[in-house]
Amino acid sequence: MKRSLHSTLLLLLFIAALAIAPLLLPEFYVTLLNYIGLYAIVALGLVMLTGVGGLTSFGQAAFVGLGAYTSAYLTTVHGVSPWLTLPAGLLVTAVVALSLGLVTLRLSGHFLPLGTIAWGMSLYYLFGNLDALGGHTGISGIPPLRLLDLELKSGREFFYLIWTVLLVLVLATRNLLDSREGRAIRALKGGSVMAEAMGVNTPRSKIVVFTVAALYASVSGWLYAHLQRFVNPTPFSLTQGIEYLFMAVVGGVSHVWGAILGAGLITVLKQWLQDWLPRLLGQSGNFEIIVFGLLMIFVLHRARDGLWPMLQRFFPQQVLLRMQAEGAAPLARRVQPEVGSVLLEVQDASKHFGGLVANDRVSFKVRAGEVMALIGPNGAGKSTLFNGISGVDPLTSGSVSFRGERVEYLPAREIARRGMSRTFQHVRLLPAMSVIENVAIGAHLRGRKSFVAAACRSERAEEARLLHEAALQLERCGLAEQMYEAAGSLPLGKQRIVEIARALAADPCLLLLDEPAAGLRYLEKQSLAGLLRRLRAEGIGILLVEHDMDFVMGLADRVLVMEFGQKLASGLPEEVQRNPAVIEAYLGGVE
Ligand code: ADP
Ligand code: MG
Repeated sequence: MKRSLHSTLLLLLFIAALAIAPLLLPEFYVTLLNYIGLYAIVALGLVMLTGVGGLTSFGQAAFVGLGAYTSAYLTTVHGVSPWLTLPAGLLVTAVVALSLGLVTLRLSGHFLPLGTIAWGMSLYYLFGNLDALGGHTGISGIPPLRLLDLELKSGREFFYLIWTVLLVLVLATRNLLDSREGRAIRALKGGSVMAEAMGVNTPRSKIVVFTVAALYASVSGWLYAHLQRFVNPTPFSLTQGIEYLFMAVVGGVSHVWGAILGAGLITVLKQWLQDWLPRLLGQSGNFEIIVFGLLMIFVLHRARDGLWPMLQRFFPQQVLLRMQAEGAAPLARRVQPEVGSVLLEVQDASKHFGGLVANDRVSFKVRAGEVMALIGPNGAGKSTLFNGISGVDPLTSGSVSFRGERVEYLPAREIARRGMSRTFQHVRLLPAMSVIENVAIGAHLRGRKSFVAAACRSERAEEARLLHEAALQLERCGLAEQMYEAAGSLPLGKQRIVEIARALAADPCLLLLDEPAAGLRYLEKQSLAGLLRRLRAEGIGILLVEHDMDFVMGLADRVLVMEFGQKLASGLPEEVQRNPAVIEAYLGGVE
């Protein structure tokens, strides 16, 4: 509590410094601060999109242009009030961002940044070539903003508007990222497989964060148009788009305050270099670009997370989550199927990878309240089968019925919604995120509140319940001590247990556990077996891949043995252990 008081105090000091800055500083610096504020608004969107969501965009300057041009055009040609052109600009930007996002966000790897370059350039040339927008000369005579009787004509008056907007957006963004929807956005960076398996609609999360970042850029453009009262295409070019990305990366690509730091540093540095480099070199030219290039390479080598984390060491860390989770009402639970009823029925499941047959017509059932072990040598096709059942990597042929419903055509998130939850053989946690937040991703489908509610913090009650649930599952799995540590700092065996807690946070009827005991010590394995027995007693069905035969035979009700993608044997543990084919396959014929 003391610490969070400390950080509130720092924030108040920062606001107070901002409030008196225009009264003390010469005009030149106020103008500089205005530009820093405008750039920071765009960079803030990029922090969310690129830094947190892992989606790189070079095209943000074009969205700034959309906001600026919409207002310039509507105010000068149609005499619309600037306060109405703000929503108009946001609407235009939202429509364009949604359409571009639907097309480009499907691209993966380096194709996505290339896609943003393509439309960034297209919009820039559109601004320059439309006669209605004044071509390359642009539009002048844009009216100033009016607040009641006050015309915001000077930079000093505008300063307060820009920085108020920026601070509100910083706080809203911070709130958004620290919420259920925010965790979904943060989960995008680890690839969409885990997020989808936890029920996150990743295409939707991508579109949301992309559109929000575009809207921030559009607001910045609207402010710019009325500060400058003149627009032409130049500030909305690809070069400026790259500069925005610089700001976000240099400042601290996944920290909201990094946006201000980055915008400030780049803007001041650019100003300074533009003044000094030509003097030093005795000739004019855009030498600052070369310095920026070098700076960028340095940052990418030495400070991947930007400069903000270096400053952050001098600030107190916020007390995370601890207070929120306590005393929250438990989440509603799903009605569990009757013990003994068939939960999962897999029939003739086959999976081909090109010529390789990883699963070959495998059939079996899992009932509520039983532990079914899936064993077999490495490469037998166990993980592939898990992926097929859970929708992560659909089967080539065959059917999967879950609770009486065919699910083999459904995406992973829809299967998760129906009560199937899983862990991964190769642990998929977000290593920099705390353990409790990682587990809360598992409870994604048990919350409803939207990102708007998150941005204005009206979802705190629900958030507390989600975190409370995560805390309960961690306690149940014996990880209460490590709750607030970064997930990546735990030993691998413990990280597997975190994955189990995350799967349990979904309140599943069926758990798929892929090698949960790998890397655990003897006593840890004992307590894992104890946990799985308790879950079974609650009526949960468990499908388990495991190599430790003592662990499997002591726990499983039934065992399914796979080899070369095919079912080799199945039955009670003692039957399977006596089966000659299994002994041959498993022990190479050794008695
Ligand atoms: P297990 O989990 O039983 O050790 P896997 O299901 O991981 O086995 O793999 C079964 C076979 O399928 C292996 O030969 C593996 O190389 C292959 N395989 C698994 N995933 C892929 C993939 N995405 N593309 C191509 N081959 C794959
Ligand atoms: Mg495997």
